[in-house]
Amino acid sequence: MQVYETKLLGGITRTKEFERKKLASFAVNVGTKCGHDCLYCSTGALLRMHRSFVEVGQSPFDHGYAIVDPSTPERVSVDARRIRHRGVVQLCTTVDAWAPEAQAHQLGRRCLEAILSEPGWSVRILTKSASVVADYDLVARYRDRVLVALSITGTGENEALLRVIEPNASTITERISAMARARALGLRTFGMFCPLIPGVADTPEHVDQLINLAAGWCAEEVFVEPVNPRGPGLRLAQEALERHGYHEQARAIQAVRQRRTWSAYVVRLLKHVQRSMRRHLEISRLRFLLYPSGLTPEDAQLIRGDDSGVVWLDKPERRELAD
Ligand code: SF4
Repeated sequence: MQVYETKLLGGITRTKEFERKKLASFAVNVGTKCGHDCLYCSTGALLRMHRSFVEVGQSPFDHGYAIVDPSTPERVSVDARRIRHRGVVQLCTTVDAWAPEAQAHQLGRRCLEAILSEPGWSVRILTKSASVVADYDLVARYRDRVLVALSITGTGENEALLRVIEPNASTITERISAMARARALGLRTFGMFCPLIPGVADTPEHVDQLINLAAGWCAEEVFVEPVNPRGPGLRLAQEALERHGYHEQARAIQAVRQRRTWSAYVVRLLKHVQRSMRRHLEISRLRFLLYPSGLTPEDAQLIRGDDSGVVWLDKPERRELAD
């Protein structure tokens, strides 16, 4: 993994996009390219015009490199003091503050300290790295003001397969253990199952296992998102799975790369999630994040017949995603 350093401008920035998703009103990001290197990651598409990619001479859509800003905590500290109208900050929204290149500078912990040392702020931690467990002591000190989630994209039985498409993230088993540890320490948690990829984690059985886990963590909210059909991410995931012999799963991904089939997958996934939420938790805690532009009119109408837990979204606002 080639790691580049850059200097960003903002520390804590407003995010209308994540506010609409009911996740946070503010964002902190510690770089522009995450070293976890998930093949379906949409950050490259969102930040494709960002100057940092020109500076390092890399395409935002390529893999095998990370761009990090080690000075982020200093800017976050300034903003945490300066901003008067405070709220929930998501750490992070476009990269991961516990990815290896960020961990090398303790960016997750240092940003947390910078935000929480000022009153009026809460933090939503979202990561795919179980190394966040080392910072649970700090989270516990501010336990009322921090929500923790490790993003879980499948069940343990698909661990090897997920290693192919999330090559540098912690294994699913490690992430699930980190969530269980958070629960054991009495930390506030939420469920994050994004994305649930077809052929990997979209069957009724997979979904039920995941929601049952969230119930065990006493998740305050559960966020679920279908995989984004745009950009090269799905194609890359499909090709990688094919190369590693996961032909059936690769075919399932290929099948949703057209609008009609993607739309049907979303309808099925929502039904499974709603059923499991009603069985194991409460439907009022569900946040099924849905951009309706890819749905067929018939499927959109079908979903509106029972859209319990659906958060309807417009197109992402690219401007706010980086400075
Ligand atoms: S952990 Fe998140 S930000 Fe990092 S590569 Fe994976 S999807 Fe992208």
